[in-house]
Amino acid sequence: MTTSFVETADTLEPQIIAWRRDFHMHPELGFQEFRTAGVVAQELRNLGLEVSTGVGKTGVVAILGEGKPVIGIRADMDALPIIEANKVDYVSQNEGVMHACGHDSHTAMLLAVARMLTNMPDRPAGEIRFFFQPCEEASDEDGKGGAQRMIEAGALDGVDKVIALHVASDQPAGKIIINDHYITAAVDDFYATIIGKGAHAAHPDSGIDPIFIVAQVINAIQGIRSRKLDPIRPAVVTVGSIHGGIAPNVIPNEVKISGTMRSYDDATRQQLWTEIEQAVAVARAFGGDYALELKKGCPSVYNAPEVSAVIRQAALDLFGANNLIEQEPGMGGEDFSYMTRKAHGAMFRLGAKLDNVSRPHHNPKFDLNEGAFKVGAALLAETAVRLLREG
Ligand SMILES: [Zn+2]
Ligand SMILES: [Zn+2]
Repeated sequence: MTTSFVETADTLEPQIIAWRRDFHMHPELGFQEFRTAGVVAQELRNLGLEVSTGVGKTGVVAILGEGKPVIGIRADMDALPIIEANKVDYVSQNEGVMHACGHDSHTAMLLAVARMLTNMPDRPAGEIRFFFQPCEEASDEDGKGGAQRMIEAGALDGVDKVIALHVASDQPAGKIIINDHYITAAVDDFYATIIGKGAHAAHPDSGIDPIFIVAQVINAIQGIRSRKLDPIRPAVVTVGSIHGGIAPNVIPNEVKISGTMRSYDDATRQQLWTEIEQAVAVARAFGGDYALELKKGCPSVYNAPEVSAVIRQAALDLFGANNLIEQEPGMGGEDFSYMTRKAHGAMFRLGAKLDNVSRPHHNPKFDLNEGAFKVGAALLAETAVRLLREG
């Protein structure tokens, strides 16, 4: 290899940070990434790449090279409906919208990767496809997010392998975390109404008390994880809201609860859909009734071991074993999952902890250590080239 991507990414660092700050100052919600997509498309055209805009609504796709294999690299571009609480000179200029998950940095890093790979002498044969995806955090009126919309638009057609990264604001800056198999959870929400019959609080016998019933229902829900699921398959069920009644002396007609169910494998996920219905149906055993709505979100991201192995080896060769950290994956959600179900793929996490202030994702004080970005860009570029060579 001639100049390494570590060196070129180092040279590009001021530009990566400038891009990130520009996106950070001008955040846009899902499927409204018009300005962001415009900047991205212009930068890619400046490189001489073939660029398509409006892919999956507001997505951008750029193509470099041709033939097989086809390696996809994905970044997401959307921000969140959060009022930024940071006092930095690149603070959000779009009041109430904030890049609080780091997608601004993903977009900036992928622009750098596009530049590095375009300018790479003796790039191996094959195609690199750059995906700048809209709306990872939310979904449209049909319940579909950006990854699904891009796939529907055919953006992933012919792709052999696909890679991505996600920054982690709680991990040391520049450290790389890569796991095999499932790394995020399938995320499904449920909304249940427990229906009883209102009565005077002094005469519960003349009604059907939904508050008493919902207590039994919540017990049954908590029994799903402990009594119904395979103990070695990860899953979690949380009741996150409960609303019912308005007065101490009135039994209400109904109580509403909602919650989330998270799991890794598809069989467990489908079992959860059945079990939640059975748990809520406990209401009928007490003379009440129920209505249940499931809002099915994205499936789990599956890191194909043959792709994560390439990322791991590239990270070792570029940055050494000290910069690879072992950490179990969590139960978060990520719609890159749709892409890893379309082509074998893997996502790694890039530590970008800024300081000793707690800056969780989706928090008004979220911020990143920008020194990590050159690491992410170099690793994406190196992995893509290795995947091209593998053919
Ligand atoms: Zn997020
Ligand atoms: Zn995110």
